[in-house]
Amino acid sequence: MSESFDWAFPGLNQHQFISSANLLALRNGGQVEPACSLYDSDDDKEENDNLNDASDTGSVNTNHVQQISDSGHSKLKRKFLDCLAELAANDKGARFVACSGMREREDEVTLWISRNEGFRASDYGAFGRLGVLLGKLASTNGESQYAAEMWREMLTYYGSRLASTYIPNVRSSLKDCEYLFHGHQNDEFSPVRLRLLEFHKLVFETNSPDQALMDRQSVLATRAYELRMMKLVRELLQTSSHSTPRTKKLWEGICFLGRLRMAFETFNNIALNLPSFKKVTIIPVPREIATQKALPSPLNLEQTFDLLNVSLDASTVKKVIGQRWTVPKAKQSFGGLQKQKLNVHAEMQMILHLSKTEEMFDRLFPYFGCSKYSCFMCWHFLQAYSKIRTRGCHGRLFKPWSVPQVSGMTPGSPEKTSKALIQLQERLKKELKAEIKKGISQEKTSVVGGSSVFTNYDAGSARRKAEIERMRMKSEQDRVAEAFRR
Ligand SMILES: [Zn+2]
Repeated sequence: MSESFDWAFPGLNQHQFISSANLLALRNGGQVEPACSLYDSDDDKEENDNLNDASDTGSVNTNHVQQISDSGHSKLKRKFLDCLAELAANDKGARFVACSGMREREDEVTLWISRNEGFRASDYGAFGRLGVLLGKLASTNGESQYAAEMWREMLTYYGSRLASTYIPNVRSSLKDCEYLFHGHQNDEFSPVRLRLLEFHKLVFETNSPDQALMDRQSVLATRAYELRMMKLVRELLQTSSHSTPRTKKLWEGICFLGRLRMAFETFNNIALNLPSFKKVTIIPVPREIATQKALPSPLNLEQTFDLLNVSLDASTVKKVIGQRWTVPKAKQSFGGLQKQKLNVHAEMQMILHLSKTEEMFDRLFPYFGCSKYSCFMCWHFLQAYSKIRTRGCHGRLFKPWSVPQVSGMTPGSPEKTSKALIQLQERLKKELKAEIKKGISQEKTSVVGGSSVFTNYDAGSARRKAEIERMRMKSEQDRVAEAFRR
């Protein structure tokens, strides 16, 4: 018997959930908490910092590193899953943010990939071939013919991102840093300057007519990968006394251009090391659960403040949203967000898809690969839902985030989803109330029976929430009645 999820679980309210999230998204540009990374070793952290494409997440510092235990090949599997998600993100922008998951059996591996805006017909073919090639590599102990085929397949799939973004970025950064390679200083970095100068020549060389575009991209991506693996290059560009914002940008550009080759090396590595990779199936998660329309009759700003037991005025708006906010500006921005469509992120698509088909969630490798850090909402949902983690969290809350109605779930999944959403709903309110709480913490006199989250709770609060819900239902009924009259 399958079950459905539809936001009707006791204690869960989609209007209140989305209003709280949208209110929090106004504070500090949606940066709710500092970024954090799951990686603990220096190498991985550096790599992770650089590869968390900040194009639409803003620039954030990784100042909180959590640790997870590593056993067997789990580090290699995590890296593989991140690389697979990066490959699936074969164009720039939030639409292409991707996620990957894995179930490993003794003699076969099943992989799922999801992407914010789903997949095209051609993606299914490309990932079908990639699965077969990984299997052949594992079965033949790394036969070079299959490795070469896989590299070509990857270049074909990712070529437009190399051509449209990564190669032009490196070109422009190299131009900005020319002074650095022509320096005549004789120091420990001299050999590195020479390597960078050679790379510069290669990047600016005009295409010879008989060189195919793919061959050129192959050379550039491979050279960038080699540079990226050289400690001295990183030192010169990132941390030495010669480093400037421009050289740091060049380092970042080299890392991004080398990313595809890094994925290739990781794919090779895992196929050679894990016997289970002799049979690999990669399943792109279908796009049936895509963007939803905004909720009809959304709560207004006063009603959303009421949910926090706070009246809306010039002072509370500063406490809840930020010092520079006024009531009219908050009303306008909040109203705008409430009208936007609701997004189902790649991580959530993955969870919902697996809740339909994967009865034993526990058999999954407890890690989702991601092409970027997870957002505040996905990260905290995953923490509440399961043991599954991702590479890190950028701590930001973006456009309206939601979970759609889903049918055909395995028994227990809707309840599990609802409970995780309720935890997230509480978390949102706690964040929203944090600054207000600071203002009243002096008055707190006693806490009975453990911690109390809401110190200014009063008996009227439940009644007020019920009243807001009643008014919202009324306006929804009016809206539907109005629609029928037309
Ligand atoms: Zn997300």
